[in-house]
Parts: sequence; structure tokens; C-alpha cells
Amino acid sequence: MTSSEFTESEVAMIEQEFASLLDAYAHTSHRQHVERIEQAFRFAYKAHYGVRRLSGEPYIMHPLAVAKIVVSEIGLGSTSISSALLHDVVEDTDYTVEDIENLFGAKIAQIVDGLTKISGGVFGEKASEQAENFRKLLLTMSDDIRVVLIKIADRLHNMRTLGAQPKEKQYKIAGETQYIYAPLAHRLGLGSIKSELENLAFKFERPNEYAELAEKIKADSMTRMDSFEKFAAPIREKLQMLGYDFDLTARIKSPYSIWVKMNTKHVPFEEVYDLLAVRIVFTPNQQFSEKDQCWMIYSAITEIYRPHPGRIRDWISTPKANGYEALHVTVMGKGGEWVEIQIRTRRMHELAEQGLAAHWKYKTGVMEDTELDKWIKDIKEVLASDSPDAMAFLDTFKLNLFAKEVFVFTPSGDIQTLPQGATVLDLAYQLHSELGEHCIGAKVNHSLQSSDYVLHAGDQVEVLTAQQQEPRQEWLEYAVTAKAKQALNTYFRKQERLKEMLGERRLTDAMEALLIPEKQYDAAIEKLLQHYHLTKRQELFRQIGADAIKLEGLKDILMPKSSFFARINPFGRPSKTDTPTVVAPEKDEVVMDTKKDKQPHSLVLTDENLKDVILEPCCNPIPGDDVIGFKDTNGKMHIHYLNCPNAERLKSSYGKAIWSVTWDTHRMSQYKEKLQIEGIDQLGLLVELLRVISDHFHINLHDLHVTTNNGIFNAYVELYVYDKQELEELITTLKKMHNVQSVKRIFTEKTTQDKTK
Ligand code: MN
Repeated sequence: MTSSEFTESEVAMIEQEFASLLDAYAHTSHRQHVERIEQAFRFAYKAHYGVRRLSGEPYIMHPLAVAKIVVSEIGLGSTSISSALLHDVVEDTDYTVEDIENLFGAKIAQIVDGLTKISGGVFGEKASEQAENFRKLLLTMSDDIRVVLIKIADRLHNMRTLGAQPKEKQYKIAGETQYIYAPLAHRLGLGSIKSELENLAFKFERPNEYAELAEKIKADSMTRMDSFEKFAAPIREKLQMLGYDFDLTARIKSPYSIWVKMNTKHVPFEEVYDLLAVRIVFTPNQQFSEKDQCWMIYSAITEIYRPHPGRIRDWISTPKANGYEALHVTVMGKGGEWVEIQIRTRRMHELAEQGLAAHWKYKTGVMEDTELDKWIKDIKEVLASDSPDAMAFLDTFKLNLFAKEVFVFTPSGDIQTLPQGATVLDLAYQLHSELGEHCIGAKVNHSLQSSDYVLHAGDQVEVLTAQQQEPRQEWLEYAVTAKAKQALNTYFRKQERLKEMLGERRLTDAMEALLIPEKQYDAAIEKLLQHYHLTKRQELFRQIGADAIKLEGLKDILMPKSSFFARINPFGRPSKTDTPTVVAPEKDEVVMDTKKDKQPHSLVLTDENLKDVILEPCCNPIPGDDVIGFKDTNGKMHIHYLNCPNAERLKSSYGKAIWSVTWDTHRMSQYKEKLQIEGIDQLGLLVELLRVISDHFHINLHDLHVTTNNGIFNAYVELYVYDKQELEELITTLKKMHNVQSVKRIFTEKTTQDKTK
């Protein structure tokens, strides 16, 4: 921008432009607050005085043009017009937001402030910066939608005048427009602005392809318009006869939309048949509803031309999420070509051009129950949740901006709108985060589907939940909406933190038990990090908390043999501080009393001595199981399931430390066991399972995960049982259940033998 006084003709041009702005405003139905607009213009004119744009024209021409777009292409009123006139004042001059507030009040100041905050554009040097900028944009938008509408107008004018900018800036601004502003305009229902933004972005991003197509369209358009007139004539005649007040127009589609068609359909230019966008816009009479009249026109047209049965789009009964309403019909012309006709009332047309936002009730700040309102509520929710992963956030929003929509019905007949590709899980989260977290699937059109089922338009969906269900990592693979993804990420982060805390506590307890002085904790943790090849403490804590790292081996790592611990406990007697214990005895440490006693060692486990042995978590033995014991150097007895691979290994190496073990227990305490149940996916199976487990056996259920996939029901159950007998009775009963195919006891870790078979 360069500075100099303006010439007389420039001053005249500016005044003329302002007069034309007021003229456009006068033609709207808004209450006329002309003085305020005049005041805003004079102020901005003075503030930008002498400054020029790169093109050389006075800078004020830009805010004037933006204000003009705001009133004539978006349909906004005086607050927005004034804000548009002032939108670059704080950014580019010495005036502050406070100055604006003093002169024009809090509302305009707030909008200008929002516009200033997002003036840097969205694309930054780094991806993270970009995401942050986008977040800012959405944040200001959810405060007052007018901010983003004026921003879109600003961007539209910048795109229209982009030719004056240097090449690299053209690419950046065009890319950003394609990526963010065109989809946003679409989402806000600004149909024609969206098309123009896309087309301009295309022009600057692919100048050669654009020029080539524009040339072809020009050469072709005469014949196309000619054949359109022939096509339209009988329709015109008929509608006139029926007494309709209407416009029947055709417009050649933009190079961009033709280019998209060529690329998605893989056809050359010559084979793109629907080059024309044909539209009937009519003034409805009072006699019938708008919808009825659209269908009457449809009926009149299809008496002349044959309709394509699969290509009727009724956006009147179910408007698009951005508010779009119209009836689309494709008919076959006389030459056998398909022509799409959009039928709209004037009101629908205005909605399609200017978007729902123009009808926003700014006074109350709400537009209850519209899809736009819901969308903005969603955005607010996502922004309010803590989200360190800004990039993922950007991705999910971009996805939703571009996505087409599907409509599904809830059991009460409510319509829910979701992006194409959305799953049962997305719907569950959309309805309520509680539903999402406990979602186990859904009844879709009366048949059971898993939560990864992709919804289709018109599906009737009843989300099914189970209180025991909780979010699983793989859900992220098929959650599509930002809302669901965000909720899942928040949930998992919380779980991670809990695991971290648990792991840290476990480790501290274990170090305390090993009598490690507190001031050596840091050194001990360092040692563990080295041992497990980890760099972060949090990671270590997390793995301990998640049972990925077991603390049984802690002593070996922190206190190798012959260290302090061995010395204070030279006779290998169990000591009170002797937890956690070593998993396997070292070969040279086996000091069993083999010389004195040639008899095989045997042990009877009773309710009393059970607490002195270790029931190894690798195979989770319970009373009644065939087990085997290993006595370690400290005299501690380790009990393994007979076929446990760890036991096999210990047996072959330490034959002499083996004890035979039998049980004589009397159901004094319960033990955690895991079962895997497979069956045919059937509503009610889960309920029945739970009934059998908790009612019939009075078994304490600890954890339950259920997945259904392709009609297969898969449950993973953790429960507490007294002994093998009880567990086997349960398994037998479960196996007898209708639709249950198999029930397996799961041995943790790699031991997976199924002794119940
Ligand atoms: Mn601007």
C-alpha cells in the first residue's frame, strides 16, 4: 500500500460507490439506519485516507465493496454493513477497538474485534498454527455468526481482485479459499458465493486449465443456449397457461464445476451433458402450500418431458442442513439428453442464495431448532472441550464441511442429519454423549447392526446401549463426526491420565515395600526407564498402570542379586517386605532343600495358607485347577496352572524346586476370571447373559465388553468366582443358552489353553 492524496476523480468515484451502497441498502426490507452507516463510512474513509491497495485504487474502495456484498449478496443489515465498512480499521490504522466501541457501540466493536483477530487468514507457517487460526475463526463465528459472514464477504472481494497480488500470495489465498472459505460458505447456505469462491480459487490455482475450459465453454454456449430455448419453450407455455408468475432461466455452469464433473465422472468436456443449470423460480399463490405448488409444477413439466425416476430430490420435505430447500427433477430432453431442473419459490431461492444466516434473529442471538443452530452448538461444544490435538480437530471439521449428508429417523420419528459415511456410533454421540459412550450397536430397520454400521438415507435407527460398555480405541477408526471423535479423544486422554496416576502410585508403593529411601526414587525411576527403553516417566507410569509392565520384576532390576536386599535376607526366608516377588528363580539361586529331602515336595493349599502363595497372573489359577508350585530362593511359593507355558519352562529348568499342589479350600474368597463368549447377535442375548451371570450364580461381574460384527456377538467378561467348580457350572449353563456358540476361559498373557473344552 502506498500513500498519497486522492485525485478529484478518485474522490468522486468513492462517493459514487458509497451512494450505490446506500441504494442497495434502501432496496432491502431492513429498517433504515442510514446515519449509522454514513458515520461508519466517514470514519473508515478518514482512517484509510491516502492509502491505496496494490492495484493502486484507494483503500476505502475495499471496505465499500465488502459492505456492498454484505448487503446485496448476503442480505445483512446496518450493523453488519457498518462493521464491514470498519473491518480493516483496527488492523491497518492506529484506531483501537475501544475507539470503535466509543463511537459505534459494543456490538459493532465486538464484530470488528472478531474480524481483526482472524485477519491473518487461516494458513500459517506450520500446521499447528493453521489449526489454531481455524479454531479462532470458529470461535469468533460461534460468538456472532456475522463475523464469519463478513469475513466471507471480505474474502470474496479479495478473490475478485486477487490478480493484483504477487503469484505466491495468489496461491496461498486461493488455497485457503478452497480449503476453508468455500466449504464454510456452503455450510452457511451461501450457494452462489460458494460457487464463485470455488471458481475463482480454481482460476488462480490452475490458470491453464481454467483458461482452456473457459474458452471451450464460450465456444459451446451459443449452441447450448439455443437448444435450451427450444427445450424451455413448451414449459414456459404450459406454466403461463396455468397462471404462474415465474422465471425460467438457464445458466452455464462455472468452469470449476464442469472441471469437477470431468474429473469425478472421468469424461471429456464434450460428454458433460448438464452444462446448463436450469431453474424455475416462482411466486406462490395463497391457495396452496409452497410444497404442493412445487409438485404441481413438477407435474406440469413431466407431462412434457419424461422424468428420470431415480433422480428426484425433494429438499422441501427434508431441507439440507444448510437450510437449502428446492425440488430437483431430471428430465429427458427431445435429443435424449438429461436436463436437471430446480424448482423453487422466491423465498426458497433467497434462502439458497443468501443462506439461513440472513434470517438469523440477531436481536435474540438464537435461531432455535434450525440445523445451522445445532451445528453452531456442536462447534461450541467441541471448542469448549479440551483439545490439545488441534490438527485432528481441523481435519474433522474439514471433513464435515465437505461431507454430503444423510438423514435417518429415530424411533420417535425425529430426523437426524449426519455427514455421509457416518456410523451408528456417530449417531449415538450426536444424540447424547452418554449414548455414545455406552453404544453397543443399533437396531437399523429392525435388524441388529454393530456400531460401525454405515448409515444410509432413510434408515430407522434405534441406538442400543449397555451400561458396562465403554469407549474402545478402535471406535476412532469408524467415528466420522467431529463430535464423536472429540468425545472419544477426550475420554481416552482421561483414561490415560488415570492409568498414569495408578501406575505412579503402584510404583511408589512397590519402592516403599523394597525399602528404597524416598530420595532415591528418581534414580530408581531413571534405572527403570533405561531398562524398558523408555524416555518419559509418564510413559512408564502409564505402562505400569495398564499392566503392560509388571512390578514383580522390580527388585531384580533395581537390586541385582547380592545387593542390599539379599544381604538383609540371607536365609531366603519370606519377609514382610518381600513383595513384590521375583517371577522366576535364577538358576544358580535355587536353594531348595533337595539334599535333605528326596521326597517330592507337596503342598495342600487351604484357606489359611493361600495368602502366603502367589497365584501367578500369567495363568490366573483358581481353587480346583490343576496347578503346580515353584518355590523361589526367598521361600515364596509361586502357583502356576499346570499347562501354563511359563510353568513348562520353569519345570524343564528347575525340576527340583517344583512342588505338587492340591487344594483344600472352602469358598472363602473369590478370584478374578475372564471369559470369552461368542454367539449369534440377537437382541436380548446380552440381557440374558447378564441375567444368568448375576442372578443365577450370584457372581460378581467386574467388567464387560461387547462387540457385534457381521451378526456375530462377542462378549468379554471379567468376573469373580470362588473356584473351578463354580466357573465350570457357569460355563456349562452359558453354553446351553440359545444362540451362544462357545464359551472360553481366557488365560491372561500367552497362555490360551482351553481346559473347559
Ligand atoms: Mn479486508
